[in-house]
Amino acid sequence: MPDYDIVLLDVEGTTTPISFVHEVLFPYILDNVDRFLEAQWQDPTVQEHVRAIADQANKDAQAGIVHAIPIDLDTDTPEEIRQKVAVNVRWQMKIDRKIAALKGLQGYMWRFGYTGGQLQGVMFDDAVQAIKKWSADCKVYIYSSGSVEAQKLIFGFSDHGDLLPCISGHYDTNIGLKQESQSYTRIAEDIGIPPSRIMFISDNENEIRAADQAGFQTVVSVRPGNLTLTESAKKNYRLTSDFTELI
Ligand SMILES: [Mg+2]
Repeated sequence: MPDYDIVLLDVEGTTTPISFVHEVLFPYILDNVDRFLEAQWQDPTVQEHVRAIADQANKDAQAGIVHAIPIDLDTDTPEEIRQKVAVNVRWQMKIDRKIAALKGLQGYMWRFGYTGGQLQGVMFDDAVQAIKKWSADCKVYIYSSGSVEAQKLIFGFSDHGDLLPCISGHYDTNIGLKQESQSYTRIAEDIGIPPSRIMFISDNENEIRAADQAGFQTVVSVRPGNLTLTESAKKNYRLTSDFTELI
């Protein structure tokens, strides 16, 4: 029997190549955001996401962030709002901002891409094999800075079929930032299991350190295209490039 009850997985650089996000998902947003906003403008969910982006942009502008252009939903025309939202989305993505308002709109756009057959989630073979085995023996959860919506799409429309039946739950930055130890404490509390019974796998050593501080078991995922690890990470943490070794 494994010495853990829960496996908590990062996505980018862990189950899925980093290149998938930067070479497929992000360009899909950048290429389609203007057209999408115009075509789906009447959709109430699009309006909700636009409101969230506007609130964030107005907060950023008040905080004196140079590139944040305020968006006035009462006085700007729909064309002006769409244009400002598109500019805001491109700026936030350029600086790789992990903010809930941006992630929400991205996730909603990706749903159109996946269900329309333009996008498919890329998974490492060994990760899929391990996830299937783990889901029979223990429980698999996902914790990614990509929104829960985006996670469900990658796993639901993967190049290995629908993997969602193997996943017991999803967390994103709504529970807290991935490099903060309290986020992992909250996840353990939410699942209702001691931190020491959870094995967290991620490519990011700052996330691994935060999970380790919260008392989780940790494994660093080593994949082609991931950032080079520091010597201290190599020395202090268990590393793997094949998840079937962890089963
Ligand atoms: Mg990652």
